[in-house]
Amino acid sequence: MHELGLMDAVIRTVGRIVKEENLTSVRKIVLEVGELSGTVPRFITNCYEAVVADTQYQDTELVLEIVPGIAHCNDCHIEFRIDIESLCCPICHGKNLTPIAGKDLTIKEIEAC
Ligand SMILES: [Zn+2]
Repeated sequence: MHELGLMDAVIRTVGRIVKEENLTSVRKIVLEVGELSGTVPRFITNCYEAVVADTQYQDTELVLEIVPGIAHCNDCHIEFRIDIESLCCPICHGKNLTPIAGKDLTIKEIEAC
Protein backbone atom coordinates (compact mmCIF):
# COMPACT_ATOMS: atom_id res chain seq x y z
CA MET A 1 0.00 0.00 0.00
CA HIS A 2 2.11 2.90 -1.24
CA GLU A 3 -0.61 5.41 -0.39
CA LEU A 4 0.92 5.67 3.09
CA GLY A 5 4.24 6.84 1.65
CA LEU A 6 2.45 9.23 -0.68
CA MET A 7 0.46 10.82 2.11
CA ASP A 8 3.62 11.13 4.16
CA ALA A 9 5.20 12.98 1.22
CA VAL A 10 2.12 15.19 0.79
CA ILE A 11 2.19 16.21 4.45
CA ARG A 12 5.90 16.94 4.26
CA THR A 13 5.34 19.12 1.18
CA VAL A 14 2.48 20.92 2.91
CA GLY A 15 4.72 21.43 5.94
CA ARG A 16 7.38 23.02 3.76
CA ILE A 17 4.86 25.39 2.18
CA VAL A 18 3.44 26.30 5.59
CA LYS A 19 6.95 27.22 6.70
CA GLU A 20 7.83 29.14 3.53
CA GLU A 21 4.59 31.11 3.51
CA ASN A 22 4.52 31.61 7.28
CA LEU A 23 1.08 30.09 7.59
CA THR A 24 -0.31 29.29 10.99
CA SER A 25 -2.66 26.44 10.18
CA VAL A 26 -4.05 24.58 7.21
CA ARG A 27 -7.81 24.27 6.90
CA LYS A 28 -8.00 22.16 3.78
CA ILE A 29 -5.78 20.22 1.39
CA VAL A 30 -7.10 19.50 -2.11
CA LEU A 31 -5.47 16.63 -3.96
CA GLU A 32 -5.93 15.76 -7.60
CA VAL A 33 -5.97 11.99 -7.92
CA GLY A 34 -5.51 10.59 -11.40
CA GLU A 35 -7.41 7.42 -12.20
CA LEU A 36 -4.17 6.05 -13.65
CA SER A 37 -2.01 7.10 -10.71
CA GLY A 38 -2.26 3.62 -9.25
CA THR A 39 -3.80 4.87 -6.04
CA VAL A 40 -7.13 4.03 -4.45
CA PRO A 41 -9.03 7.05 -3.07
CA ARG A 42 -10.36 5.03 -0.15
CA PHE A 43 -6.80 4.06 0.83
CA ILE A 44 -5.65 7.65 0.40
CA THR A 45 -8.27 8.82 2.88
CA ASN A 46 -7.38 6.06 5.36
CA CYS A 47 -3.65 6.68 5.07
CA TYR A 48 -4.12 10.44 5.36
CA GLU A 49 -5.97 9.96 8.64
CA ALA A 50 -3.18 7.72 9.90
CA VAL A 51 -0.46 10.18 8.87
CA VAL A 52 -2.08 13.30 10.37
CA ALA A 53 -3.21 11.69 13.63
CA ASP A 54 -1.79 13.62 16.59
CA THR A 55 -0.14 16.20 14.36
CA GLN A 56 -0.98 19.84 13.68
CA TYR A 57 -2.90 18.61 10.63
CA GLN A 58 -5.30 16.31 12.43
CA ASP A 59 -8.19 18.76 11.87
CA THR A 60 -7.18 19.57 8.30
CA GLU A 61 -9.78 18.44 5.80
CA LEU A 62 -8.61 16.35 2.85
CA VAL A 63 -10.54 16.79 -0.40
CA LEU A 64 -9.93 14.44 -3.33
CA GLU A 65 -10.68 15.46 -6.89
CA ILE A 66 -10.61 12.54 -9.28
CA VAL A 67 -8.97 13.22 -12.64
CA PRO A 68 -10.23 10.88 -15.40
CA GLY A 69 -7.64 8.62 -17.01
CA ILE A 70 -7.32 9.44 -20.70
CA ALA A 71 -5.31 7.26 -23.06
CA HIS A 72 -4.36 7.28 -26.72
CA CYS A 73 -4.54 4.06 -28.73
CA ASN A 74 -1.41 3.83 -30.87
CA ASP A 75 -3.18 1.53 -33.33
CA CYS A 76 -6.51 3.34 -33.86
CA HIS A 77 -5.19 6.81 -33.06
CA ILE A 78 -8.12 7.70 -30.87
CA GLU A 79 -8.27 9.15 -27.40
CA PHE A 80 -10.66 7.76 -24.86
CA ARG A 81 -11.40 7.61 -21.18
CA ILE A 82 -9.70 4.48 -20.05
CA ASP A 83 -11.52 1.79 -18.14
CA ILE A 84 -9.13 1.00 -15.30
CA GLU A 85 -10.59 -2.49 -14.96
CA SER A 86 -9.74 -3.60 -18.47
CA LEU A 87 -7.00 -1.16 -19.57
CA CYS A 88 -7.61 -1.71 -23.27
CA CYS A 89 -8.80 0.24 -26.31
CA PRO A 90 -12.61 0.26 -26.67
CA ILE A 91 -12.33 -0.03 -30.47
CA CYS A 92 -9.62 -2.63 -31.16
CA HIS A 93 -9.34 -3.99 -27.59
CA GLY A 94 -5.59 -3.63 -27.96
CA LYS A 95 -3.23 -2.66 -25.20
CA ASN A 96 -0.88 -0.53 -27.27
CA LEU A 97 -1.82 2.55 -25.29
CA THR A 98 -0.17 5.76 -24.18
CA PRO A 99 -1.60 7.42 -21.09
CA ILE A 100 -2.27 11.13 -21.63
CA ALA A 101 -4.01 12.37 -18.51
CA GLY A 102 -4.79 11.16 -15.03
CA LYS A 103 -1.37 9.69 -14.25
CA ASP A 104 -0.49 11.88 -11.34
CA LEU A 105 -1.34 12.58 -7.78
CA THR A 106 -0.77 16.27 -7.10
CA ILE A 107 -1.48 18.86 -4.47
CA LYS A 108 -3.88 21.25 -6.16
CA GLU A 109 -4.64 23.64 -3.37
CA ILE A 110 -3.91 24.39 0.25
CA GLU A 111 -6.38 26.49 2.15
CA ALA A 112 -4.70 28.15 5.05
CA CYS A 113 -5.76 30.56 7.72
ZN1 LIG B 1 -7.33 0.79 -30.60
